[in-house]
Amino acid sequence: MIEHRFRQSWANTFLDCPEAARTQMNGTAIDKTNSSMVRGTVVHEAIEKALLARMAGTEFSLEDILSSYEEAWEEYVDEIDFWLEPEAKVQEMGALQTQVWFNEVFPDLNPVGVEKTFEFTLYQDEQRRIKLHGTRDLDEDGMTWDWKTGRAKNAWEVRRNNIQSMIYTLARAHELQDFETPQPFTFCHLDKGKLQNIEVVRTPGDWDSLIPFFINIAELIEARLPTWPLRYDGWRCSDKWCGNFMNCRGKHIGESPTNW
Ligand code: SF4
Repeated sequence: MIEHRFRQSWANTFLDCPEAARTQMNGTAIDKTNSSMVRGTVVHEAIEKALLARMAGTEFSLEDILSSYEEAWEEYVDEIDFWLEPEAKVQEMGALQTQVWFNEVFPDLNPVGVEKTFEFTLYQDEQRRIKLHGTRDLDEDGMTWDWKTGRAKNAWEVRRNNIQSMIYTLARAHELQDFETPQPFTFCHLDKGKLQNIEVVRTPGDWDSLIPFFINIAELIEARLPTWPLRYDGWRCSDKWCGNFMNCRGKHIGESPTNW
């Protein structure tokens, strides 16, 4: 029996570029942490603290959440390998995103689970078992939330194709043992300090469609090919976002091409 265990975020990397995902999985890609990634981590941490406090019966003020943000910033800032924007600008934007979330989203939330990890078996036959795992930002009764601090995608595209929401709602379906009832899921985008909520609904058909999606990836892994397809046209294909860049496209065009 071959065991496959996929993290949801790795599936996103696979969709952005299969070869980036392969080299991340086998450890040959060199992970680099940029300032946007750390800003996202810090905003998430501040939000998490406010939600956990509410679950424990304590209400955060705006000052409380902003001071959690500043503490987390100090904790993580040294992890940044390179800056996409000047430090002050990155830090201010994270604080603004935290503030917007606090003022416009937090008041109506009733958390029942915060940063909840999950793992479930998606598929199993005589040959292989496929498990999926990940961490959900927020569970409410009847709604799952995800905070996004990066660039927002088109709402229609998210509603139609987003894989993360399929996986997270299926995880909740396993926990509820209800595989018949469609579930709503909200992406809360805080890009550029402006709120945009995109609500999607995931159905039993969406959940079933994950099975061939991951069987295909499992078969690709089992084929032990030396490389997987290269996706030059994705946003990830740059030295700033792909840890495999200098073993791949960067060999031909250099680390930071001057014509970009
Ligand atoms: S450099 Fe581009 S094509 Fe190569 S692995 Fe990275 S994202 Fe994929």
